[in-house]
Amino acid sequence: MSKYAPDLAKHRFYIWLNDYHWVPTLVAGVALFAVGGLSLILWGICLRVVVDLHGTWLVNSGAHMWGTRRFATRDDSRNNWWIALLSFGEGWHNNHHAHPTSARHGLAWYEFDASWMQIRVLQLCGIAKSVRVAQINTRTGSGPDVDERGSVGDANRSLFSDVV
Ligand SMILES: [Zn+2]
Repeated sequence: MSKYAPDLAKHRFYIWLNDYHWVPTLVAGVALFAVGGLSLILWGICLRVVVDLHGTWLVNSGAHMWGTRRFATRDDSRNNWWIALLSFGEGWHNNHHAHPTSARHGLAWYEFDASWMQIRVLQLCGIAKSVRVAQINTRTGSGPDVDERGSVGDANRSLFSDVV
């Protein structure tokens, strides 16, 4: 966390969340049990965690096997539209590998990125600031060239500084 988001590594809430990451799940589990018993825990905790983990593993395996490569990265990462749909935009994995500090993974207009849309809403509300975004360079028409935009001069600034 301190490499890509040094400001988050200093933020008290995120330090607490990093140390006690199990507390929100425990609180949710108790609330779900109180409302719907054991079956609601199975749906709201167990199934959610299984789907989330398999989605992550799908991105880190499938998006390294199937899809297209916009950027000539030194790995085998690929952009895959159906993995992006299932993973809220993480399937634009070649874009992510080429620009790991970019909050937006779907760089072209047709690359649907639900996570980026959420970050954009937070940015428009003034909650997320100094959001770093890679963009395809359309000025030169030279294809897969990217400009970094949104950082404030310091390359070590994180994506989500000042997020409250
Ligand atoms: Zn990868």
